[in-house]
Amino acid sequence: MIDSEVIIVGGGPAGSTCAWELNNSGIQTMVLDKKTFPRRKVCAGWITLKVIRDLKLKKEEYPYSFLTFNRLYFYVLGKKIPVRTRQYSIRRYEFDHWLLERANVPVQQHAVRHIRKEKGCYVIDNRFRCKYLVGAGGTNCSVYKTFFRKANPRSQKRLITAIEEEFKYDCQDVNCYLWFFERNLPGYSWYVPKGNGYLNVGIGGKFLGIRNKGRTIRSHWNCFIKKLEKLSLVQDRSFNPRGYNYYLRQTANIGQIDNAFIIGDAAGLATSDMGEGIGPAVESGLLAANAIINGSTYSPKSVTKYSLVNILLGK
Ligand SMILES: Cc1cc2nc3c(=O)[nH]c(=O)nc-3n(C[C@H](O)[C@H](O)[C@H](O)COP(=O)(O)OP(=O)(O)OC[C@H]3O[C@@H](n4cnc5c(N)ncnc54)[C@H](O)[C@@H]3O)c2cc1C
Repeated sequence: MIDSEVIIVGGGPAGSTCAWELNNSGIQTMVLDKKTFPRRKVCAGWITLKVIRDLKLKKEEYPYSFLTFNRLYFYVLGKKIPVRTRQYSIRRYEFDHWLLERANVPVQQHAVRHIRKEKGCYVIDNRFRCKYLVGAGGTNCSVYKTFFRKANPRSQKRLITAIEEEFKYDCQDVNCYLWFFERNLPGYSWYVPKGNGYLNVGIGGKFLGIRNKGRTIRSHWNCFIKKLEKLSLVQDRSFNPRGYNYYLRQTANIGQIDNAFIIGDAAGLATSDMGEGIGPAVESGLLAANAIINGSTYSPKSVTKYSLVNILLGK
């Protein structure tokens, strides 16, 4: 049996941020992730100034792709709206790996299946034991499924389905574009250039809203790709996108039961308007870590709920 004061299931931004904060306070912490890092994560990789601040990330220390946008170009029902702001793009493949290494805690590749409580501890797959258990395993997090599903049911109305592809591309246009509500999509599509010659394009929206209109995210994707070609933003390329489903901010937000916690996508914390999930993952990771450090109670209630206001204010 491997013992650790805290075990975090999932090494994405939520788990690695939590581990980093705990380790900085000298609390014995270990991360279990089913994948070996660096790993691919389906995501556009847009981050905000708040994320940079919360992570105390110094641009000069970050060795990978990093692009700053001083403007975003919104298209709402065909109308172009340039928005002055300060936003950033990173590649999740690099960013998540860097964050996890920076946390400086033991990381074990292990897909968590079974968790039980025994004598005040949590026992994972009869191999790992901890006093505090943090669920940061994304939408299908095993900590959520074992301890939180009943107390914290997720509303299917807030389920987002999204697909994207990230690839090397010599972008002639390095602006960031977002198209809202095209073809009645309850969501938006994006063109997000990265540093070091990469590009991410994708589309996401509310699952039920798309299905109720007799469409699929894939049919929206096909039209979106035609649009990118027509606008000469991407040309002569055959695509092979990957998808992931996750939840917008839920109304029931119980983040802690006894010494078990859920953070990030496991808690359904992506912002209600834009589906921004990295910021809420980081914020909730810090909150849970500080509750463990201080012996206080954790709640994700204060985590940012909306992105748009902050974008408009350049935060
Ligand atoms: C197409 C798309 C585009 C997006 N674009 C953006 C964007 O531009 N900006 C933004 O802010 N948000 C975006 N999001 C949302 C964002 O990606 C997520 O909200 C964010 O990754 C949540 O971080 P997390 O750490 O909670 O989970 P994750 O990043 O999903 O990390 C969870 C980790 O847990 C591991 N894991 C899962 N199950 C187990 C298990 N049983 N045992 C062990 N390990 C396990 C996984 O391998 C993974 O490494 C996007 C999402 C999608 C789908």
